[in-house]
Amino acid sequence: MNTGKFSFTHQNYFIAASKRADKWIRGLTPLAMKAPVAISQCLVGDPVRYNGKDKYDQELLLSLGKYVQLHPICPEVAIGLGVPRNPIQLVKVQQAIRVREVGDASVDLTSQMQAQAVADSARLAHVCGYIVMQGSPSCGLHDVKRFDEQGLLLDEAGQGIYIAALKQQLPLLPVEAADVLHNKPQLDNFLTRVFTLFDWQQSTQGGLSAKQLIAFHSRYKYLLMAHNAHAYRVIGKMLSNLASDDLAQIANRYIQSLLAALQKPTVRGGQTNVLLHLKGYFRAVLTLDEHKEFDALAASYQAGNIPLSKPRCYLHERVERTGDNYLGQQTWWQPYPNADLLQDE
Ligand code: SF4
Repeated sequence: MNTGKFSFTHQNYFIAASKRADKWIRGLTPLAMKAPVAISQCLVGDPVRYNGKDKYDQELLLSLGKYVQLHPICPEVAIGLGVPRNPIQLVKVQQAIRVREVGDASVDLTSQMQAQAVADSARLAHVCGYIVMQGSPSCGLHDVKRFDEQGLLLDEAGQGIYIAALKQQLPLLPVEAADVLHNKPQLDNFLTRVFTLFDWQQSTQGGLSAKQLIAFHSRYKYLLMAHNAHAYRVIGKMLSNLASDDLAQIANRYIQSLLAALQKPTVRGGQTNVLLHLKGYFRAVLTLDEHKEFDALAASYQAGNIPLSKPRCYLHERVERTGDNYLGQQTWWQPYPNADLLQDE
């Protein structure tokens, strides 16, 4: 399926030397089309945890390797901690959350971790996503254990010190915990946002004009509609008067809004809405039998009997037949390379 989206120029992204990670970076998608994604290093099988072990997640790596280049990072090793080492934990000190060595309050690594995140944010500026190890006081995205100064558990509502600081530096970056990505729709949603950011980086690397911003948004209209009909209208209005505002500010607001809107999971109703909108373009082209055939496919998809790829491919064949450029370039056809493989599972 040729969507026009994946004509990316080649970029030599840095891939960290990890024998196990390297095994997964080859796969169905050519390397130049794989988005660079950072990952907690213990997840790729490197024994960097405090106890000298790893958290090798073979199932996730098998799924991911088809789509992304992995860039493993261990912030605790990066700040100079050894392997093995004493474990650390989040500690509430007055109103602030610190990260300290378990059982030794004098070893406080908060500032070092935050400084490491700031330093990493510069070299990770090209990265389009980050997959983190759940529960870690450094990398965990949510539900991290927090303790009081006496070592008693307060709650499990914390966020790793490193990842919290990194997210502040790179607010566009899609970040997700590894355990969440075992859920296929969640992985699909994460990859959609990763490749949207990848596309944005590629599209804006030479600067951005008002015309280019409109052209970028034109390609995302139906993907946005499928995820979030309300945001589709709000973002459309945001771009309606580019002459009156600072373009860089609008572009920044735009990509933030787009990525936030795409975080909303798609539902069959939203996808069916897109199918019917697109069918409207072919009203005059489709024969009566084709109308009926497509309506049956759309109804069957909405009822949960067939995957989205069936009605989507049916329409895409008509797009190819008519050569409609506006429709052909829509990222909705394939939000990331080989999206059908995952979305049909
Ligand atoms: S969770 Fe993060 S800090 Fe801990 S071992 Fe894994 S990569 Fe290193």
